[in-house]
Amino acid sequence: MTGAMLFYSKFDDANDWREHLLNAMPGLDFRPHPDVGNPADIESAMVWKAPPGEMRKYPNLKLIVNIGAGVDYILKDDTLPPGVPIMRLVDPEQNRMMAQYVLLTVLRYHRNFPELEKQRREKRWQYIHPRESASLPIGVMGIGNIGSHVATELVRQGFPVSGWSRTPKSVEGVATFHGRDQLKPFLARSHILVLIMPFTPETDGIVNRDVLYALPRGAKIINIGRGALIDEAALAGAIRDGQIGAATLDVFRTEPLPSDHPFWDIEEITITPHLASIAVPRSASLQIAENLRRLRAGEKLFNIVDRARGY
Ligand code: NDP
Repeated sequence: MTGAMLFYSKFDDANDWREHLLNAMPGLDFRPHPDVGNPADIESAMVWKAPPGEMRKYPNLKLIVNIGAGVDYILKDDTLPPGVPIMRLVDPEQNRMMAQYVLLTVLRYHRNFPELEKQRREKRWQYIHPRESASLPIGVMGIGNIGSHVATELVRQGFPVSGWSRTPKSVEGVATFHGRDQLKPFLARSHILVLIMPFTPETDGIVNRDVLYALPRGAKIINIGRGALIDEAALAGAIRDGQIGAATLDVFRTEPLPSDHPFWDIEEITITPHLASIAVPRSASLQIAENLRRLRAGEKLFNIVDRARGY
């Protein structure tokens, strides 16, 4: 007799997940919250932004699946059962969506679309001579699973790309830097800085005034990691005095972004409501099924979060 799977998310469609999970695991006993039945039946839990304490209700829980790549929200819950592994999603379709967001934004800046859209609003015809990709070096801060995919797609478009991480990395065609000692040289060559790091105590506010002013003057910022990576007041100030030319932000320290937040009044900031990518049931169900199979067979699990490290 195998256990049931709890599903808890107010953002994701339980029926869509049910369909794809059952394709991957025929016979799965799938129980969307609040129709959980007997809590003792629950063997695994798929969750996104469940309230603190929820995971404590299930005495036989053996696997938590975070419906997303970032685990900062779930790790804030200090009542999580300590011995239960937390799996996060590492999904090719999610990577593709993240890369699309970055490509769209980089190309928008590279091909001068903010200026061209402004000219269009003002009914002005003004030629802007396009540049080749090789003239726009891009830095990817956080070249993990998503960052290395994004970097590879940018290389494919002919941009000179560098990447920065905590530990040494090797990504074909990408100049890699790591650690605090190599941060400044990495920043000095990043005319667009793309942030794809997790939020941890170490990365909280990592993009501060010093970092912003170590970039070439007029550099642009794209943040698809977590809002709290950026010191928001420092960014607003750096845009005001021209050090930072523009920013496209998908994530914010407070979400939804409050209506009186200064970012709304800064024309150079493009704001999107945390939608750079989603967890894709069709592809992500396969890795969840495989980990559940391994759990039941007593085999080693993959994509397990290091709780102490925070990602
Ligand atoms: P990974 O864990 O695969 O990669 C994280 C990268 O950040 C690694 O290169 C890691 O370095 C680096 N890093 C972490 N801490 C530090 C540090 N203190 N100093 C320097 N580098 C650091 O995560 P993913 O690529 O899968 O996801 C990244 C983040 O993207 C998620 O945590 C989430 O917050 C965000 N995200 C946002 C989405 C959106 O819709 N906007 C959707 C999906 C994810 P190292 O490997 O050396 O440890």
